Formats: sequence, C-alpha cells, structure tokens
Amino acid sequence: ALGDYDPNNIFARILRGEIPCRRVHETDHALAFHDINPQAPVHVLVIPKGPYRSWADFSDKASEAEIAGFVRAVGETAKLLGLEAPGYRLLANAGVNAHQEVPHLHVHVFGGKALGPMLA
Ligand code: 5GP
Repeated sequence: ALGDYDPNNIFARILRGEIPCRRVHETDHALAFHDINPQAPVHVLVIPKGPYRSWADFSDKASEAEIAGFVRAVGETAKLLGLEAPGYRLLANAGVNAHQEVPHLHVHVFGGKALGPMLA
C-alpha cells in the first residue's frame, strides 16, 4: 500500500517557498511552474496546493472546489503559455509503473513543437 503523503517532497517544499521555481500561474488551489529538466520546448508542471500523492488520492480526498480549481488551472496554464492554438499534451504519472518521481500530484504540460505519437 502507498504510504502517507510526504510533507517534505520537493513540490511541497516549492509550495512552501523553500525551493524557488519559475512560476507560470498561481491560483487559490494550484501552482504552475517550469520543469527543471524540460523534455519539450515548453514543459510546465501544474500541481494542486493540497497534500495529494496521485490523481486517485486527489479524487478521494479533495473538495469539489479544489478539484474544479486544479482542473481550471491546468487549462488556464495551457492558454497562458500560448498552447491552445498550436496544441499541447497533458501527462500525469502515478506510482512505480509510471516512474512517478515526486510523490505530489502533478500534471505535465508539454508543447512548443509537434510532439509525435503518444508515449508507450
Ligand atoms: P514525474 O516523473 O514524477 O512525473 O516527474 C517529476 C518531474 O519533476 C520531472 O520532470 C522533474 O524534472 C521535475 N522536477 C524534479 N525536481 C524539480 C525541482 O526541484 N524543480 C522543478 N521545477 N522541477 C523538478
């Protein structure tokens, strides 16, 4: 079984301002910032501000306002980045099989080039 949320994971520390980030967008419920090791010309991470490990954990525990706020912030981030017209890809890794590195829910936003077929 998965453990409890780790309050010292790197994204929790970014949310507390202990580690800097290149901010793209911030709302009551979400923060968007550039990935430190970009895998595309545009590679941004959007995270909810609450302590959720994965999409399933978030779905179980978050309030309707947090869920709506997070989903809306993902869309707003894509628009702020100018990706709505050229297009973009969203990705959320969860757990070992998906190689989730940071145990705080995050959605990757990729864009800035033609991305090719979906990952395996
Ligand atoms: P995951 O594999 O968990 O889906 O992706 C975690 C992402 O977080 C990776 O793309 C990685 O480059 C990014 N990342 C890890 N540490 C930091 C950090 O300190 N700052 C930022 N901006 N991104 C990070």
